[in-house]
Amino acid sequence: MLIILAWVILIAISFLWNYTNARKEQERIALHSARSFFAHIVITRLWNARHGGLYAPVTGKMLPNPYLDVQMRDIEVNDELKLTKVNPAYMTRQISEIAMEQKGVQFHITSLKPIRPQNKPTTREKKFLKAFEKGIKEKGMFIKEGVKNSYFYMAPLKTKKSCLKCHAKQGYSEGDVRGGISVTSPYVMKIPFFSLLLGHIGIGFVGLFGIILAGRRLNKAYETIKRQAAFDALTKVPNRRSFSERILLEYKRSQRYQEPLSIIMCDVDNFKTYNDTYGHSSGDQCLIKIAQTIKTSLKRPGDFCARYGGEEFVILLPNASLDGAMYVAETIRSNIEKMGILHKNSLPTQIVTLSFGVTTSEGTTLVSHEELIKHADMALYKAKENGRNQVQFFSEIA
Ligand code: GH3
Ligand code: MG
Ligand code: MG
Repeated sequence: MLIILAWVILIAISFLWNYTNARKEQERIALHSARSFFAHIVITRLWNARHGGLYAPVTGKMLPNPYLDVQMRDIEVNDELKLTKVNPAYMTRQISEIAMEQKGVQFHITSLKPIRPQNKPTTREKKFLKAFEKGIKEKGMFIKEGVKNSYFYMAPLKTKKSCLKCHAKQGYSEGDVRGGISVTSPYVMKIPFFSLLLGHIGIGFVGLFGIILAGRRLNKAYETIKRQAAFDALTKVPNRRSFSERILLEYKRSQRYQEPLSIIMCDVDNFKTYNDTYGHSSGDQCLIKIAQTIKTSLKRPGDFCARYGGEEFVILLPNASLDGAMYVAETIRSNIEKMGILHKNSLPTQIVTLSFGVTTSEGTTLVSHEELIKHADMALYKAKENGRNQVQFFSEIA
């Protein structure tokens, strides 16, 4: 779950990062092209100003500029050719009209003290002109007018020496912000929001699928390892390690509730001879059968059996008295005997049998769990000594 969560967060971060980058790139391109338009117009205006304005033939589209208050504004060359002076502002306006017609780009020359009323700044332009006077160098932003997306750019026009010819009477001196030009260009480049989102969702799902698949495999492998660590590979009953953990748990419980805890230790009789007679793999099969019989002979859910070592098994019986444990041991002994696995060199029975040692702790701390195992082992030894195929209990006196 943590890996899945980390993956989802990673995909979300990647999406946001890509989206933010795309937006920055969009803004960078828009700003760059607006700056180019602006620079172009400023250079053209400078060229015009350097010549103190230029003369152009008077036509329907080039009428004398009523706001240009200079001598020799209009010159009559002959009956057919009349010229009028075009100053940078008038030129900018005319270029703006062409730019609007051809490219949909709008220039607006504006000033806080405009000579021509149409050059009055809009609210946005006014705000920016004031910012320019405070030293801000340029402003650019995306705007939306109705359904039209545009990029608005504005930069100041600084008074140059050549401008003073006309603008000195407005009180400007060289270097002053005289006004500005705003460039409003249509902006069509869209961020591929949906393809970016779908791409990330796609990658996200593929990754999730991989994580879940790998997770399930890992889980399976983990379960196998856990089982292998707790169970005996041959007999499939819990191993000695599991027993060591379990006895500690059951011992503590028996102490807490003052309940008895019984242990049965059992060992196959003459098993070395069995191996020698029938072969090691037959010996293995025999151990499997014995483990199964012990398991099926245990009836209470809390009863626990483990392979303690080679051909030795141990049984834990929580809350079982010595009598009860003796009864269980006798049942197992008898069930093994009933199987009648042939063991011709095991005298006198000539079948596979087991010997049992039983001990019980009465829920007091007098005997430790290690001692309890030792006692069961001692009782088992007694059973062996007494002739095998029998159950013996531990007693201090014996
Ligand atoms: P006793 O009646 O006194 O217990 O005699 P025993 O022959 O059973 O005891 P001993 O300790 O001499 O031999 C135990 C044998 O159990 C020796 C060993 O080869 C065999 N054994 C232990 N583990 C395995 C196993 O996993 N498979 C097989 N086939 N034999 C095993
Ligand atoms: Mg043995
Ligand atoms: Mg043994």
